[in-house]
Amino acid sequence: MHLSIPRVPRVRQAALQDNPVVGHKRVLLAAPRGYCAGVDRAVVAVEKALERYGAPVYVRKQIVHNIHVVTELESKGAVFVEEVDEVPEGAHVVFSAHGVSPAVVNAASDRGLQAIDATCPLVTKVHREAVRFAKNDFEILLIGHAGHEEVEGTAGEAPEHVTIVNSPDEADTVEVRDPSKVVWLSQTTLSVDETMETVNRLRARFPDLQNPPSDDICYATQNRQVAIKKIASESDLVIVVGSSNSSNSVRLVEVALEYGAKAAYRVDYADEVKQEWLDGVATVGVTSGASVPEVLVKEVLQALDGAGYGDVQEVRTAEEDLMFSLPKELRQDASGQRDARALGGRTADGGPAR
Ligand code: SF4
Repeated sequence: MHLSIPRVPRVRQAALQDNPVVGHKRVLLAAPRGYCAGVDRAVVAVEKALERYGAPVYVRKQIVHNIHVVTELESKGAVFVEEVDEVPEGAHVVFSAHGVSPAVVNAASDRGLQAIDATCPLVTKVHREAVRFAKNDFEILLIGHAGHEEVEGTAGEAPEHVTIVNSPDEADTVEVRDPSKVVWLSQTTLSVDETMETVNRLRARFPDLQNPPSDDICYATQNRQVAIKKIASESDLVIVVGSSNSSNSVRLVEVALEYGAKAAYRVDYADEVKQEWLDGVATVGVTSGASVPEVLVKEVLQALDGAGYGDVQEVRTAEEDLMFSLPKELRQDASGQRDARALGGRTADGGPAR
C-alpha cells in the first residue's frame, strides 16, 4: 500500500490581523535552521533519480519527514511506499535519509530492485557503531523512539544485541545481561538534554557503561537546539516550522518551552498560525526543523509581517557548511562522467550549491 499522504496545497494564504500589544513587535529568527546536509542530499537524490531514470521512481517511506517536500516530489513522479514488496520487480527504489536495516536491503535485492541508498551518512555512522559493538559482544542500549524508522534501521543491524530505551524513565528499569559490557548509542535527532539525563540514569545503574566513540546526535540537531535555546527566553511565542513526524522539529518545540518560551507551537504551513497565539505577544521566535525548506519559513514570516511583526532579527549561533556527496549510485551520469552536482546539494533555501 502506498503511503497515505494528506493533500495540502503548496502555498496557502495566511491572514493574520495586526494586533495591539504592549512593547515593540519583533521576530527573533533562529539560525541555523532548516535543511541539513543529510536532508539536502536525500532530496537531491530523488530528484536526480527522476531526472536520470524517469518517473516513477519509488521511495521507501517518506524520503525526509516533511509533508511539503514529499508532496513536491510526488508531483514530479516519486511514488512513496511503505515496504519494498510494493515496488515492481526491477524498478528503482530510494531508501530514505533515516536508513534501513540489512533485512530491507536484502528484501530489495531479492526482488531485483535497483536500490539507491539516501541514508544520511551520520545515520550510517551509528549503524557502523552498532555493528562493531555487537561484534565485540556488547549489549547496546539504543536511546531513541521505538517505531521511528531510524531506530528500526539501526536496531536491525544487530537485533540480538540492541535494547531500545525510549525515555529517561526507561533507564531505571531496563535490564542487561552483563553490566560490564554495555554501551549506549542514540537516534540522531533527540533532545541533547533529555538524552544526557537518560545516560546519567543508565550510568547510575551501570557504572561501566561505555559512550559512543563520537556524538550520535548529529550536528544539525544540536545546532538547531542551541539556536532555539538562545532565543526562547526572550520569546513570548515560538513557532517551529516542521511536520508532526519530524523528530527534530518536535524536539525544538519541547526545548523552546524548557528554555523559557511562554508558548511554542509547530506548524507545517503559515496558515496554521492561529490569531489567538499572538494575543499580547511582542516577541515571536521562529525556527524550523532539519527537513524544512526555507520557503515555508518565509511564508510564516510574511504572515507575521501582515500582523505587524515586520522587524525580523536573525540570531545566529553557528555556521554550517557541511555537504555530503550524492549516493554512489548517482555520482556518475549515464556517460560515466562524474556528475557536476555529485559533491553538492543545495543551500538551505533550495538554491544551487555554492
Ligand atoms: S538531521 Fe542529522 S542525521 Fe538526520 S539527515 Fe540531517 S544531518 Fe543527517
